Amino acid sequence: MLQVFQSAPNQPLVYGEFEKATKVLTVPGRGRGLFADEEISAGELILASRALAIVYNDDNSQLSSPLLTRVKRFRQLKEAVAESVKQSLDSALKVYQLHAGPKKNHLLDQEIEQKFSETPIDAARIEGVCLANALSSNESPNRSADKNGGSFGLWVRVSYINHDCCDANATWMIVNDFIFVRAAKDILRGSEILISYIDPHQMYFAKRELFLKHDFICKCKLCQIDANEDHKFLRDRENILCKIIAQCENGIANNPELVLLALEELDSLNSKSINSEGERSLSEVYKLKPLIFLGLAYYESQNFIEAFRAFSEAFEVSRRFVQLNPAKLFLAVAMSRTALRSGHQEELRKWIGACKRLVILQYGKEDNYEIFCHLYTDFVKEMESSGVSVRNIYESHEVVM
Ligand SMILES: [Zn+2]
Repeated sequence: MLQVFQSAPNQPLVYGEFEKATKVLTVPGRGRGLFADEEISAGELILASRALAIVYNDDNSQLSSPLLTRVKRFRQLKEAVAESVKQSLDSALKVYQLHAGPKKNHLLDQEIEQKFSETPIDAARIEGVCLANALSSNESPNRSADKNGGSFGLWVRVSYINHDCCDANATWMIVNDFIFVRAAKDILRGSEILISYIDPHQMYFAKRELFLKHDFICKCKLCQIDANEDHKFLRDRENILCKIIAQCENGIANNPELVLLALEELDSLNSKSINSEGERSLSEVYKLKPLIFLGLAYYESQNFIEAFRAFSEAFEVSRRFVQLNPAKLFLAVAMSRTALRSGHQEELRKWIGACKRLVILQYGKEDNYEIFCHLYTDFVKEMESSGVSVRNIYESHEVVM
């Protein structure tokens, strides 16, 4: 895995494809899904696949508006998929068997073979397949793994994996032309493999738009809770969140008071929610970004006790969601730093241990300390210069998955 990270961006990876025993089965009400055909442990790779077609992010070709760039990249992907279909029947079978939107029936092998011998390119079906199945590294839980950002491609086997915001059991990341899907929980033989196509703490309306792009409406617990709310509630929540996040990102709100006010506003709005208190605890995830900014603002002002409290709360609201593991890793590092600054040896050991667990969940057991150092070089240097041997603590920590 370390080698994968060190490879040059935007080129085919020198890496072999891999897949655990899985099978595609019909899921009532959800089309088809990918199921584990053997037991898979948390942290294990489920599959590593090369894209059937991919469009890399090319900074030189950025158009004036993000919309135009998206349109152009979508057209390029359709062309690349069509090119691949034209090359071989095998490729046509892979592409035309995928879900192509609500208006298109699934095709049988025989029908595809016939289509291929007459007119191999069915532009409308290719468009439907790309719309419903293409993935962008910008939507990946681990988007920083894609060094240039924004790679956009079609991976055949992954296209069969269904989505769930709350109960995903696997995570994914795109590195160059590869997608890596890894178990984030132990998965029993016969269980459906589920990933989240999106970040659960994104704004509700943005998430809906992304789901529509993939041709479905998510009915997970979190989306259900949001769907119960009226539009005014959702808009008010987005206004509070957008305002504070924009201010924080522009460095205007590195004053903790401002973030605290926004969080209070959110709590008071939440008290008007029509969902029960138990249900509402799930939507606390929307506080993730403001809480991280709050922790950082306290850290900057050297108020380590409050920083630690804000980071802990952020960790807590993200606990349920496996696709927030990269955010949890960031927080575990932040809490280790805060523990060092406030002289809490026990907390320091505990959070370095949490880092190890999260690194294994995202990148596997192999080379995991080296990967951690690669990702958090500054943190390791900072610790070592304060006389803390990160390696000793990290390696002595027994990870319980
Ligand atoms: Zn959902």
